[in-house]
Amino acid sequence: MPQLSRKQLLSLYSKLRSHFGFLNWWPAKSNDEMAIGAILTQNTSWKNVEKAIARLEANRMLSLKAIAEAKLSKVERAIRSSGFFRQKAKRLKSFSTYIVSNYGGIDSFFKRSKEPRKELLSIGGIGKETADSMLLYAGNRPIFVIDAYTRRVLSRVFGIDAERMGYEEVQRIFDVLPASIDLYKDFHAQFVELAKNYCRKKPLCSKCPVRSMCKYASKAAST
Ligand code: SF4
Repeated sequence: MPQLSRKQLLSLYSKLRSHFGFLNWWPAKSNDEMAIGAILTQNTSWKNVEKAIARLEANRMLSLKAIAEAKLSKVERAIRSSGFFRQKAKRLKSFSTYIVSNYGGIDSFFKRSKEPRKELLSIGGIGKETADSMLLYAGNRPIFVIDAYTRRVLSRVFGIDAERMGYEEVQRIFDVLPASIDLYKDFHAQFVELAKNYCRKKPLCSKCPVRSMCKYASKAAST
């Protein structure tokens, strides 16, 4: 496993934070909304998720209880903008039903579950990234969320093959950081901002705030 030092990671974080500021993530007004957004954002852009969340809210379905009680077809109609809406409506229904019937709600789930990660992963349609997003942003557990943006930035900045490494292998890279929930929340948000604004599939290196420490950029400049 490629080892990155705490200094390397914090240096990246500090450059990102100086550029983007402290990001108030996850964009949600409640833990229910956060969990719903985490399922809706699978394989789609946040813009599409926002539309689906607005429609759920307009239809008084922006809570796990309301989704658990709603007809599947009604959930499907409300989240149509989020892509793969049939599959996601089923996921939302099964997740909401599980949490509401076993715990009454998501806050109680995070208080009472002995192994929340394992339990989340046992619910159909909840993968590691979705589970870890919920654990960090709704459950306040110090667990680093790994997504495609994180993998791309790590690969380019540090010259490691994070895009092909296993999920937990990439996650372990961050074990050198202090287990700070605020740091984990903000660092993940910074990866997303960098990847959306600069480190796109076709990167905009000339304007990038971390260019001075990026292996990809220095290699590109020397060729
Ligand atoms: S310098 Fe280029 S490759 Fe490196 S992180 Fe920035 S945009 Fe990505």
